[in-house]
Amino acid sequence: DPARAPERANMSELERNDRDSFFHPSTHVAQFSRGEVPQRVIETGKGVYITDTEGKKSLDGFAGLYCVNVGYGRQEIAEAIAEQARKLAYYHAYVGHGTEASINLAKMIIDRAPEGMARVYFGLSGSDANETNIKLIWYYNNILGRPRKKKIISRWRGYHGSGVMTGSLTGLELYHQTFDLPRTPILHTDAPYYFHRQDLSQSEAEFSQQCADNLEALILREGPDSVAAFIGEPALGTGGIVPPPAGYWEKIQAVLKKYDVLLVADEVVTGFGRLGSMFGALHYDIKPDLITIAKGLTSAYAPLSGVIVGDRVWNVLEQGSDRLGAMGHGWTYSAHPIGAAAGVANLKLVDELDLVTNARETGAYFNRSLKDTFADHDIVGDVRGEGLMAALEFVADRDSRTFFDPAKKVGAQISAACLERGLIARAMPEGDILGFAPPLCLTREEADTIVAITKAAVDTVAASL
Ligand code: PLP
Repeated sequence: DPARAPERANMSELERNDRDSFFHPSTHVAQFSRGEVPQRVIETGKGVYITDTEGKKSLDGFAGLYCVNVGYGRQEIAEAIAEQARKLAYYHAYVGHGTEASINLAKMIIDRAPEGMARVYFGLSGSDANETNIKLIWYYNNILGRPRKKKIISRWRGYHGSGVMTGSLTGLELYHQTFDLPRTPILHTDAPYYFHRQDLSQSEAEFSQQCADNLEALILREGPDSVAAFIGEPALGTGGIVPPPAGYWEKIQAVLKKYDVLLVADEVVTGFGRLGSMFGALHYDIKPDLITIAKGLTSAYAPLSGVIVGDRVWNVLEQGSDRLGAMGHGWTYSAHPIGAAAGVANLKLVDELDLVTNARETGAYFNRSLKDTFADHDIVGDVRGEGLMAALEFVADRDSRTFFDPAKKVGAQISAACLERGLIARAMPEGDILGFAPPLCLTREEADTIVAITKAAVDTVAASL
């Protein structure tokens, strides 16, 4: 209806088709249909830059959705995909089938994973990999004759996907509201978010101890014989980009061990170098039983995810299958050859370009530069990060840590001001937080550009408040 949506009158055919046919994820659908949410059609990418159909170029400070780790336009990966498609675009992986690419990739993952990892189960997305985790955990306890041990503990502010179970694991209200997601058998415990602590006088170590104590209390309240697993991202991603407070993982793991609770490290964001180590588990000395991988596995050149299964779970699955037969779990596209070919080429490139070292070193430079620039800024309450993951959190008053009224959408305004200046930095879904997770090939000059643009954007929005 043109009278209701005058913006539609001047739209190109492509834009009208977009608004009339394409149901976009995480989008205000009515506003998009009416033309009130801007449309952006991305056409090309090279290095850390993307360019849209209007010719507007942006430095992608979030690597898509923290996934294009090797950067855009890598011909080696494109060639590997094309070659695999020409040779064999698809065959399934059921009942012992595979392709050279999927076998080679599984081996490359195990070689890079923390010690004690036995096998890789492939999927398509981080969400389906976490669905696999839940099923494996339940199956494991069924084999062990512990049918009650099924509850999964996740954390507020955790992000583990958008499926029915994985959306429930996710600890962000936006993802629960209005979907009637099953809250049981999922429980949520404290977010490892020191900046948001209630008692401002607490040290990081005290705060970590409180998280561990509350976890223990939750397990005891529910009954240790009913609690199967704990899932967490080594450093929180979508919940605000928050590295763990000092001592956190050590204390949490001690509690899990005490009550025989499995640990799932969701490394969809942190896997393959983001924090400056190959895995977040290696970075923070975490000893997981299961590891979720996706994004950086193929740098998103093709969809592929996986669960790395540790010895403790694997040995039980092997015993169980003699009794229970073949495991009834799989996707048509498990270990898809094109995704696997992309993964092999991508991991080779990560090694050749030494991107894990670059994430550590350029990441340290970038984080230092953000701290130097923003530590004393009036509206910046926290500057945090690790490797090539960082965030600024905005506050109305630094001394009393008073947050802005969410209706002001300060984070979103700053993100928009960055975009106007040619930088993509993500307004995180909860709170006034600007997130950075650029490709791992970022140079110091590009890091300088991100900081300079962000400074101009923050100053401009701060002056208008
Ligand atoms: N786990 C984590 C830590 C994530 O950040 C994400 C996505 O951002 C997921 C799981 C879900 O992955 P996907 O969007 O591929 O389903």
